[in-house]
Amino acid sequence: MQLNEFLSDLKTLISYQSVNANKTPTAPFGKENFNALSFFLNKAEEFGFETVNYDNYAGEIIFGANESNLEEIGVIGHLDVVPASSIGWDSDPFTLTEKDGFLFGRGVSDDKGPSLLILYALKELKDNKILPKRKIRFFVGCNEEDGWADLDYLKTKTTLPEYGFSPDGNFPLSYAEKGVYQLQFKFPALKNFYEIKGGSAVNAVCDYASAKSVITPDNALLKEFSLGFNGEVIESFGKAAHGSMPHLGKNAIKSLVQYFGICGENTLKMEKLFDGLGLYALKNEQGEVTFSPNVITSDNKNVYITCDCRIPAPLCFDDVKKIIDGFGYEYKLLPHTLPPVLVEKDGWLVQTLLNAYNTITGENKQPVSLCGSTFARAFKKGCAFGIEFGRYQTNIHDANERIKISEVLEAYEIYLLALKKLVLDN
Ligand SMILES: [Zn+2]
Repeated sequence: MQLNEFLSDLKTLISYQSVNANKTPTAPFGKENFNALSFFLNKAEEFGFETVNYDNYAGEIIFGANESNLEEIGVIGHLDVVPASSIGWDSDPFTLTEKDGFLFGRGVSDDKGPSLLILYALKELKDNKILPKRKIRFFVGCNEEDGWADLDYLKTKTTLPEYGFSPDGNFPLSYAEKGVYQLQFKFPALKNFYEIKGGSAVNAVCDYASAKSVITPDNALLKEFSLGFNGEVIESFGKAAHGSMPHLGKNAIKSLVQYFGICGENTLKMEKLFDGLGLYALKNEQGEVTFSPNVITSDNKNVYITCDCRIPAPLCFDDVKKIIDGFGYEYKLLPHTLPPVLVEKDGWLVQTLLNAYNTITGENKQPVSLCGSTFARAFKKGCAFGIEFGRYQTNIHDANERIKISEVLEAYEIYLLALKKLVLDN
């Protein structure tokens, strides 16, 4: 790969502040996302690829004759980025900066750098006059960081390949991702407590919850449950954690609910939620079911508790539903669910990607299963494959996002070999 040429293109790509912004008639995620996608697709055409622009929601680059009889493999990256304030950055986040063997800039790791590497790897295969037995359909989205509306739109316009990978995760690769569901439970309003609220996002363990009381709180009881009272509201403090790993946090709602119970409210069923309803017993090689009640709200009639629930395939929501229904709760499943993903661990795709990784790095790693979710879910059988090697903090979504130049080259060799095998192997 021509590193200088790559860096020059990456510099241009990083200069677009492709943070989700107000839509215009032609730019669904704002002008800078439009510009980043235009640049990327123009570059691909310059390299000689056929491209498709899906109305600026996402783009596609095609490698291999666009004949329908070729088997298809998908790749998906994204060109949008999370916001970057100037706070904490040692250099301008939208100016590619090289220092001490690292590249700095918003998107160098997530996911402009990896997306551009894929394009360059495809170019090398093309320039070497490789005749692909399979077609690579390489998609780039513009809304991965903010709701995946790019993917939703893409799916209305084309049928995505069944198998594929995304360079928007970690090496060596993930072959499974848990299903993600949000369940909202409904309970009758409490007698003596109102304006109950806690938790800002269903996918994060609640770190602060509060409630108002018609009775004056008892200091000794408050102390027993580590609660505070600021003269108006009873406050509970916990520790946030990602919803996929509730054991790493401390749920602020739990002690508040226990306190309600000790004050004479009927909270037995509510409290059971915090013990996981026995769902944790459902587990397999891919991991265990997790269940975390992360948001609480109330109105005149009801108290609502919304739970994050993650399910490892081949278990499915019905397995969980059976258990929950056995308790006789009133609840509803909220929209925006993500079904679990499971790609055959010993299958051709996983083994081809893994082999490319182990060959280039000289390591002997195994594929992993994830609790979170990546863009690889675009494909029914999708693997997240790089770019993070996990050797140091890349500061993704944080100030001073970075990647080592030596790793850019290493990842390039991995992607090149993987893509070559994917299009050529039997
Ligand atoms: Zn990403």
